[in-house]
Amino acid sequence: MGKIMAVNAGSSSLKFQLLEMPEEKLITSGLVERIGLKASVFTIKVNGEKIVEVKDIENHSVAVKMLFEKLINLNIIQSLDEIIGVGHRVLTGGRSLTDSCVIGDKEMAIIENLVDLGPLHLPANLTGIKAFKEALPNVINVGVFDTAFHQTMPEEAFLYAIPYDWYETYNVRKYGFHGTSHKYVTLRTAQIMGKKPENINLVICHLGNGASICAVKNGKSVDTSMGFTPLEGIPMGTRSGNIDPAVVEYMMGKKNKSCKEIINILNKQSGYLGLSGLSSDSRDLLVAAKNGHKRAILAIEVQAKRIADYVASYHCYIGGADAIVFTAGIGENEATTRENIISRLAPLGVKIDPKLNACRGIERLVSTDDSTIKVYVVPTNEEVMIARDTLRLIQQ
Ligand code: AMP
Repeated sequence: MGKIMAVNAGSSSLKFQLLEMPEEKLITSGLVERIGLKASVFTIKVNGEKIVEVKDIENHSVAVKMLFEKLINLNIIQSLDEIIGVGHRVLTGGRSLTDSCVIGDKEMAIIENLVDLGPLHLPANLTGIKAFKEALPNVINVGVFDTAFHQTMPEEAFLYAIPYDWYETYNVRKYGFHGTSHKYVTLRTAQIMGKKPENINLVICHLGNGASICAVKNGKSVDTSMGFTPLEGIPMGTRSGNIDPAVVEYMMGKKNKSCKEIINILNKQSGYLGLSGLSSDSRDLLVAAKNGHKRAILAIEVQAKRIADYVASYHCYIGGADAIVFTAGIGENEATTRENIISRLAPLGVKIDPKLNACRGIERLVSTDDSTIKVYVVPTNEEVMIARDTLRLIQQ
């Protein structure tokens, strides 16, 4: 059929993957970092080899032009006509964009109006879409929303117990994020287990720098730990996860800081980083913990406890999980973290097999034969999901 570019644009970065569809074959991938700063870094992988170029890249449009030049010059494609569509990861579609869609002027305007819901991510997502529209004016651009998979949550799960008018008038509700990943993992796990997606119940632990748990009943998201913003839920690399909101006012007074500054600390200086005082990276914490670093151990245990709380609660909410699934950077790679979480769920009869669990980045069943709930590691692939949705909309 053709090639589809899956794009994830951040405020100073642009991640891309070019896939041959419908085969879902990865052709090339790469990343542009430090866009708008001095010495930007352009990295592209060709036949397993990384090519890196450092030069000033002023904005996303320049980055996209450079990407297309590279694709031609490195003989990855012969002509830009081979690209039949571009799919963009978009943080949120709010209450109006509830599924992936072709992004025309109307959809651009809707996303622009949602910027308050994602002030860090949405302007960057929009910049990425504009840059590709400019460079390839005749190609379809599709928005794939991180909130879309969670649109099936029932009111009892997505409503906060706050004045109802906040929801009706100001759209304050749980939206959830990482939906593209949770959806991919749901479909893939169903395949692995030989079940139809509509017959599968899962608790998915997407544990990366950002992290969320998702309750999947009959193949659909019915609850998830992230909320109105990605700050809610479990502690993450730098995010606090759930805290009593009264802490915000209290610390504003103590530190003489604005509400915005305190929220920024909860987003960027909390979680692993805040508790350990060491690092937001799980690899650093695990090494430090092994060496007896007390606060690194604390950061790991606080997170594992909160994850286990969610998994146990979601297991009940969906009427019993067929499997607990680990994905993303930590979920796929950190055996000790998986073991720490599952061992806290022993009263449910779920058991991990240490031998099977000693794996990194591969798809695998890691529970024992007599475990009441199966436990899997399933590497996520958000780009494939983006490319699938883009292809679906091109075909429509
Ligand atoms: P993500 O946000 O999904 O890229 O995950 C990032 C987190 O995964 C960081 O805390 C990393 O320390 C952790 N991680 C652990 N092992 C690996 C690995 N082999 N590759 C990438 N990330 C890893």
